[in-house]
Amino acid sequence: MRRAKKVVVVGGGPAGMMAAIRASQLGQKVTLIEKNNILGKKLLLSGNERCNLTNANNVDVFFEGYSKNGEFLRDAFKLFFNRDIIEFFESRGLKLKTEKDGRIFPETNRATSVRDILKKELLRNKVKIIYGAQMVDIVVQDKKVQSVGLMGAPFISANSLILATGGITYGSTGSTGEGIRLAEVLGHKIVSLRPGLAALKTDKTYPSALEGSTLKEVSVTFVCGRKQITSHVGDLLFTRVGISGPIILSISGKVIDWLTDGKKVVASVDLSPSLSREEIDTQLMKEIIANSKKNISNVLKKNLPSRLVDIAMEVLEITPGGQVSQLTSKNRKKIVSFLKGMNLKVIGVSSFEKAMITRGGISLKEINPKMMASRKVNGLFFAGEMIDLDGDTGGYNLQEAFSTGYLAGESAAK
Ligand SMILES: Cc1cc2nc3c(=O)[nH]c(=O)nc-3n(C[C@H](O)[C@H](O)[C@H](O)COP(=O)(O)OP(=O)(O)OC[C@H]3O[C@@H](n4cnc5c(N)ncnc54)[C@H](O)[C@@H]3O)c2cc1C
Repeated sequence: MRRAKKVVVVGGGPAGMMAAIRASQLGQKVTLIEKNNILGKKLLLSGNERCNLTNANNVDVFFEGYSKNGEFLRDAFKLFFNRDIIEFFESRGLKLKTEKDGRIFPETNRATSVRDILKKELLRNKVKIIYGAQMVDIVVQDKKVQSVGLMGAPFISANSLILATGGITYGSTGSTGEGIRLAEVLGHKIVSLRPGLAALKTDKTYPSALEGSTLKEVSVTFVCGRKQITSHVGDLLFTRVGISGPIILSISGKVIDWLTDGKKVVASVDLSPSLSREEIDTQLMKEIIANSKKNISNVLKKNLPSRLVDIAMEVLEITPGGQVSQLTSKNRKKIVSFLKGMNLKVIGVSSFEKAMITRGGISLKEINPKMMASRKVNGLFFAGEMIDLDGDTGGYNLQEAFSTGYLAGESAAK
């Protein structure tokens, strides 16, 4: 009988836990190293602590769900895709449910249920978990992994090493980028690390006056010189410093790239994407006729958040108390323009630390996608957010973590 290999996995997030589970299921002697005193600290925050662990969409939609190179995941998805995640958790007693846009959550609505199943499976497969242990070194000889150095502890020898140390945002969860830096020292190219799925900062002061209000069913076009990109229709949330909400997060990556290149970006919010300017104007005319004695802001407040109407009146320099019948055609046009394009200059990311994901990471050119193996160092594998792939909201990032983790675990066991 073949002797069990020593597989060391660094990072107790979803990617590392799944990698350790798979390698141990295949009979290897697996050690999982995590610098926190608990597993899956970021996983516990995911999906507003409800954990949107995958999506019901088919594989082609999935490939489109990553900002670039989604097809890199073809082999990982072939081995372990959304149906496998469902089977994995449901066969272990955790029922899942599908919500809007195919987002899959545990029926318990608790991310802890997901983490607990993973932990139970690690223990069932006799994975040795070392908590509070920080990897600080990787020893390689003759292009082959030998051992892993931990802060203040003896080296741990390894036949195979899986790095699953995550990105560099939400550092308080443990994702601080050490794995990426050590991979770079070993000769791997790193694609620049940038925030993704992030709220944006604007230069106007009025988003702060609107803090906490949501605009429903709007769309936003970000304009950068001659280039522009339009979000799908959905919810926009005003924050203390700018704009957030699903439609902003999904599109933020491209906007951040423009800003990083020093370009100017304007967000133009269409408050009525289903209606043309003419249709809005006609509707406004009807309102004017039907409510000639009412004041302008009260009429507008029927369809818009009241604080936004107050701000619109101020920005457009229209007297809010005036009767609608007194509204000049110039002011009516100004209102229509505001409804079809409320412009905000975007000046940055609200907070790098609070970006939901890190874009960039270990270059895909240095990883064999059939095994998630390094092309530079034998016996070294990568999984999860530390690689140069990032997905949209909707369960794409956790699916990537689970799929690449599973494939890395299987490959490391060979
Ligand atoms: C607020 C929030 C909500 C999110 N919601 C969703 C969602 O609903 N659906 C979705 O698909 N995605 C979501 N994401 C993204 C998703 O959580 C991540 O993509 C995923 O956790 C990445 O998994 P990972 O295992 O690669 O890395 P991580 O989860 O970051 O885990 C890496 C682990 O490695 C450990 N580590 C790091 N360095 C070392 C070291 N030197 N030594 C030892 N251990 C180390 C860390 O402590 C950490 O536990 C969300 C992210 C955030 C921040």
